[in-house]
Amino acid sequence: MRIGVGYDSHRLVAGRRLILGGVDIPFPKGLLGHSDGDVLCHAVIDSIIGALGIGDIGGHFPDSDPRWKDASSTEMLKYIVELAGASGYEVTWIDSIVIAEKPKLAPYIESMKEAMSAACIPAGIISIKAKTDEGMGFVGRGEGMAAHAVCLLKKRRF
Ligand code: MG
Repeated sequence: MRIGVGYDSHRLVAGRRLILGGVDIPFPKGLLGHSDGDVLCHAVIDSIIGALGIGDIGGHFPDSDPRWKDASSTEMLKYIVELAGASGYEVTWIDSIVIAEKPKLAPYIESMKEAMSAACIPAGIISIKAKTDEGMGFVGRGEGMAAHAVCLLKKRRF
């Protein structure tokens, strides 16, 4: 078994779609990033990279790489889950937290699980929790969003 912890944060700006957990959420601002800025997917990807012990997300998805420019982060997630598979590990469980002051995310949680499962994480092994930071800090001021994730990988028996 391997565990990994992941974290990410992105700035909220006008003129971008808000994509969280692979779901397009109606909101006047979106997350700035080289890809679609999906902070939740990035935290999950970071946790899997950590469990594999293969560096960090910037090393696998550099800002300079045109392949991931405006990419869907669910595609990035698929890529890293497949990399784990190629290394002999299967994702067994993911727990995650997305922290956003607005909008209310509860109505989108099930859709996020479905979208992330479709990106080749087996259904039923991902937990997503949403919370605010009660008005404190950069999240509380609406300047950005953050996410944390923990994953458990299991080595396949050959
Ligand atoms: Mg990111």
